[in-house]
Amino acid sequence: MSFSFRRDLGLQLLALYLLFVGPVVLASLVFDRLAAQRLEADIKTADLAVARAIAQETNAIMDSALQAVRQLASYPEVLAADPAGMEELFRIAFSVRTDVDLIYRLGPDGTMLFHYPLGPGSTVGWDFSIRDYYHVSLTSQAPLISAGRISPTTQQAVATAVMPLRDRNNTYLGLVATNIKLQALSHTLSSIVAEHRASDAFQVIIIDSTGHIIAAPDPTRLLQDFSASQANISGAVLALQAGNLIQADDNGQETLFSYVPISSADWGVIVSRPTQTAFATPRATHRGVLMTMGVFLVVGLFFWLGLTRHVIKPLEQLASYSQTIGVLPNSSLPENSLSDGSVDHRRMIQKLSQRPDQIGHLTESLRRMEAAIQARLNELSTLLQTSSAVVSTLDPQLVLDRILEQVERLMAIQKCAIVALDERQGVFRARASRGLSQHYTNQLAISPSEPLSVSLRALRSGQPVQVSDTELDESFTDARPRARLEGYRSLLAVPLNTQHAQPAALLVYRPDAHVFTAQEIELLTNFANHAAMAIENATLYARSDARLHEQTRRLEALIQSLRDGLILEDLKGRVLYANRRIGELVDLPRDEISGAPVTQIIERLLARAAEVSPEKRAATRATVLAALNGSGERSVEIAIQTRRQTIAYYHLQVFDVTDSMGMPIGRGQILQDVTKLRELDRMKSSLISTVTHELRTPLAAIKGYATTLLAEDVQWDAAAEREFLEIISNETDRLSYLVNDLLDMSRIEAGSLVVTHEECHLGDLIERAAQRSHPQPKERLSVDLPADLPVFLADAQRIESVLRNLIENAAKYSGERTPIRVSARVQSGHLIVRVVDEGPGIPPESGQRIFESFYRLENDRTREHAGAGLGLSICQGFVRAHGGDIWLEPTPIGSSIAFSLPLIPVNEKPPELS
Ligand code: ADP
Repeated sequence: MSFSFRRDLGLQLLALYLLFVGPVVLASLVFDRLAAQRLEADIKTADLAVARAIAQETNAIMDSALQAVRQLASYPEVLAADPAGMEELFRIAFSVRTDVDLIYRLGPDGTMLFHYPLGPGSTVGWDFSIRDYYHVSLTSQAPLISAGRISPTTQQAVATAVMPLRDRNNTYLGLVATNIKLQALSHTLSSIVAEHRASDAFQVIIIDSTGHIIAAPDPTRLLQDFSASQANISGAVLALQAGNLIQADDNGQETLFSYVPISSADWGVIVSRPTQTAFATPRATHRGVLMTMGVFLVVGLFFWLGLTRHVIKPLEQLASYSQTIGVLPNSSLPENSLSDGSVDHRRMIQKLSQRPDQIGHLTESLRRMEAAIQARLNELSTLLQTSSAVVSTLDPQLVLDRILEQVERLMAIQKCAIVALDERQGVFRARASRGLSQHYTNQLAISPSEPLSVSLRALRSGQPVQVSDTELDESFTDARPRARLEGYRSLLAVPLNTQHAQPAALLVYRPDAHVFTAQEIELLTNFANHAAMAIENATLYARSDARLHEQTRRLEALIQSLRDGLILEDLKGRVLYANRRIGELVDLPRDEISGAPVTQIIERLLARAAEVSPEKRAATRATVLAALNGSGERSVEIAIQTRRQTIAYYHLQVFDVTDSMGMPIGRGQILQDVTKLRELDRMKSSLISTVTHELRTPLAAIKGYATTLLAEDVQWDAAAEREFLEIISNETDRLSYLVNDLLDMSRIEAGSLVVTHEECHLGDLIERAAQRSHPQPKERLSVDLPADLPVFLADAQRIESVLRNLIENAAKYSGERTPIRVSARVQSGHLIVRVVDEGPGIPPESGQRIFESFYRLENDRTREHAGAGLGLSICQGFVRAHGGDIWLEPTPIGSSIAFSLPLIPVNEKPPELS
């Protein structure tokens, strides 16, 4: 309530009005009430005064009448009832008292004894004992006045002043009385009425002790019983009370009665008049006040209504109108679908704006404001659209076209263009245009050194440059014919502030001479900034896109070339990316891997697991799947059977892929080939066990035989001593070979092996090798060399070592009697040497591994003979150091190991081999 009051100016004004008028009305009412009471009291007092005056006058009359009868009673003639004496006496009294119409004497029994005047009809002898005053006089000593009545003698209304007569003995003698003409009183009253209130319905009556009217200006009312109609008034006045009383009759007419008792006669004076006339003045004043207030209120109401209609309502309408200002019209609605309400609203605002007063001015200003805001909003929304166009696409051409379209729409410009430096041609050309002829845009080629070009001036200054009239502008002399042809007369160029893109400017053309306003320039600058942003974005995007492409390509190449397998999966467990290595491992093309469930890929890998027992396979599978589900160890090692029947060890590592905020976006798996590491481990343990075993055996022999020789209690013959010493020497050789082998091996692995080039005769080398080998092949060995085998350049010691190793192996592992054959031939510039035996041979699947360090076959023959598994690996190192190779050749029985050496003739300069 208070909220709506505070918001309603009409209510507030009404409250203000009531606040001012209320006290005035209240004061007027109080004043009116007080004044009315005062006036009524005055009127009552005045009426009472009149009644009192009449009562006093009547009292005086009655007193004098009583005085007169008392006097008459004192005369002896009267006491004696002497007619003659009474006649004389009564005549004189009658002559002085005009208000008296009869003076008479009654006898003690109430009989008329005498009356004056005597005629016309005499009542002498009549019995008047019926009169009440007679009865009163029987017991009274004092004079009295009777009730009013019609005199039978005079036929007039009279009241009688009576004096009882008594002798000295107080014997009742009758009475002497004068009939007072009540008419005389009425005349007096009439004159008073006429004198005092001629115009009012002013009434004065006198009632006697019985309540009958004994005096009234209207003779017809005489002797009417007043107490019958106004008992309470007559009762009060006859009880000797004076006062005022307002009584209403049956018709509702109110009368003000003012009454005063006449003490001498037990009568009362009653002055009456209708309150309508009595209180006319206060009531008129009251009406006047009420009317004034009514007028006040009505005028106030009209004023308020007028104010509401002409000020408050228009203000409310303007307020609601002002709320609609700045609200964009719903463009999805067609123009004619505007509701009737808004049409009315518009019409009303139109009407208000035509008012010549302040409201009219206000409306007009609001309308102007609305138009300005609407225009501004239009600009803003267009700029917003332009902004969203800039950010929504990276196609600069599209954005520039859209910007020019907005420029055209918003600024009512038909011709505009964006010119930019064409790097290839070295001139500024139109990059986008609207409204310009094809010819013009094709011809437009501004050289960057052109001094007068508007666009270049704008670009150089970094500020908008305008030509307001091409016909008058001196800088335009050359370009004027072109301007005329194209139909423009003024133009504005706004530079596009870009940092990374080619310099460019926005050009707008107008067909008329026109000075571009600051607002237009500001708006166009905004458009130019957007265009600059679009070009800048596109340039940067193009650059970053190329860079990104390059980086992606490199990254792709890197990942693809990894020896390790890499899988990236999405959150649903499907392969997003897998590198080439994975394809090789699971034997699937890349496009089949992409999108496939990762578990499926890993299952394919597990199918090749090297574990033989199904339990072990199941255990590996469970561990791998647990790792993939992220529930178990996140790295697992899997042994895989390779196509070459070797075992490769892969370390599968599962990791989470998160974005920059740490939110998981997928998972990755890396399959790392750890075969080399495993091999290294194996080699390490083999090295330790071999070295300890291979060292300990000859050392034990050396120590044994040395101790035997040194024993003092035994004398050995020279042959035995020699045999022992030979053994010691051989074991020492063995030790030294082993140490040399280890040294050679470490040199080979460190890549620091240096081979010399000296003249080598293969036959000599084979012979020396056979002699030095242990055990010796002796006559089992046959050598088959072509006769024309040339002398060649090589590291003689190393090649002898290779031959010794091969012959030694054949002697060791092929049984004691089987033949060993060494052959050689020259083939495509290489010397190929073969050492063939007829022993148990080497399984083809171990064909590669026998060349690995510390690798030895798992068979009885091998176990029988000491060895570190270094021989063939050292052979391979030496041969490769010469630029040749060594390999196991398939043979039906036994084994055949061949090596090749590039054949360097002696007369040729040896290549740098190391
Ligand atoms: P070592 O002879 O010291 O054990 P090698 O590297 O010379 O080491 O040979 C490696 C393994 O190859 C041997 O342990 C053996 O099992 C096997 N081997 C080599 N030559 C022959 C052969 N001629 N016949 C059978 N097995 C052979």
